[in-house]
Amino acid sequence: MAHDQYTFVDPTTRFEKVSPPKQHQPEPGLDSELNPLADLGEDSYRGSGRLSGRRALITGADSGIGGAVAIAFAREGADIALSYLPSEQSDAERIAALIRDAGQQAHLFPGDISNAEACRTLVAGAAEKLGGLDTLVNNAGKQVFCTKLEDLTDEAFDQTFKTNVYAMFWITKAALEHLPAGSTIINTTSVQAYKPSPVLVDYASTKAAINSFTKATAAQLAERGIRVNAVAPGPVWTPLQVSDGQPQEKIASFGHDTPLGRVGQPAEMAPAYVFLASAESSYVIGETLNANGGIPTP
Ligand code: NAD
Ligand code: MG
Repeated sequence: MAHDQYTFVDPTTRFEKVSPPKQHQPEPGLDSELNPLADLGEDSYRGSGRLSGRRALITGADSGIGGAVAIAFAREGADIALSYLPSEQSDAERIAALIRDAGQQAHLFPGDISNAEACRTLVAGAAEKLGGLDTLVNNAGKQVFCTKLEDLTDEAFDQTFKTNVYAMFWITKAALEHLPAGSTIINTTSVQAYKPSPVLVDYASTKAAINSFTKATAAQLAERGIRVNAVAPGPVWTPLQVSDGQPQEKIASFGHDTPLGRVGQPAEMAPAYVFLASAESSYVIGETLNANGGIPTP
C-alpha cells in the first residue's frame, strides 16, 4: 500500500526519481500511454470529508494534474463534472470509475473548450447534471514548444491563448450565475509565469495572464463570497510533456534540476487544490500556491 498524503516521509524519495525514455504522443496525449505511468494518487489519496456535498467542474480532468484533483475531490466527498477532449475518452472513463468507486457522481463532458459557445454549453450541462455548482477548477492547458519566434505561427499562438486564457474567462463568466457564496475557483498557472522557458513564449505568457486574472477576479468576487486562487505547479510528469510540451532531449532529466531533485507527480498537486477548494482556506484569496519542488518564485 502506498503512503497516503499524511504519512511522514522524505519528499526526496516519496516518489521515484524517474528518467523517462524518449517518447512522443500526438496532442493531447494519454495518461495510459505514459512510460512510466504517472501517479495520480489512485492507491494513496485518503479523503477526510473536506469537500462533503460539493459540486465541482474540473477541466482537463481526464489525466495528469486534473485527474489527480478529480480523484482527491471525490474522495473528499464531491461530485464531479469532467471536461476533456473527445480523443481522451479512455483516460476520462478511468478517472470516472475511480470517482464512482469513491461513492460520488462522475459526469463526462467531452468537447473542445477553445471556443466560447462550447464553454457555455459545458458549464450549463455541468450545473444541470450536478444539481448546481460551487467549485470550478480551470486546469485544461495547451503547451507546445517552439524554438524560434519566427516559427511560432499566429494560429498556434492564438490556440494556446484560447485554451489557457480565453476558456478560463468564458467558463468562469458562465459559472457565476450558478456559484453561491462559499464557492471556490482554482486556476492552474505554472512556474513558467515567473521563470519562462525560451521555447515556451506563448505558453509562459498565458500562465502569467492566468496569475493576473486570478488576482483581479479574486479581488472582484470576494465581496460575493466567492474565492479565487491559483496553483502553480513546477515540473510534473504528465502527457502534456510528451505531446510536444518539451523537446525530446529534455524528457529524461525533466524536473531533475529542482531543489528536490526529481520530477513531481500529479498526486502531489492535488492536496493544494483540496486546500484552496475547501472552507479551511476561507481567508486565502488571490493567492498562487506554488507546488514546484523548491524553485524560487517572487
Ligand atoms: P494533461 O495533458 O494531463 O492535462 C491537460 C488537459 O488539458 C488535457 O488532458 C486535456 O483534457 C485538456 N485540454 C487541452 N486542450 C483542450 C481543449 N481545447 N479543450 C478541452 N480540453 C483541453 O497535463 P497536465 O500537465 O496535468 O496539465 C494540467 C495543467 O497543469 C495545465 O494547465 C498545464 O499548463 C499545467 N501545468 C503543468 C505542468 C507540468 O509540468 N505538467 C507544470 C505547470 C503547469
Ligand atoms: Mg489528458
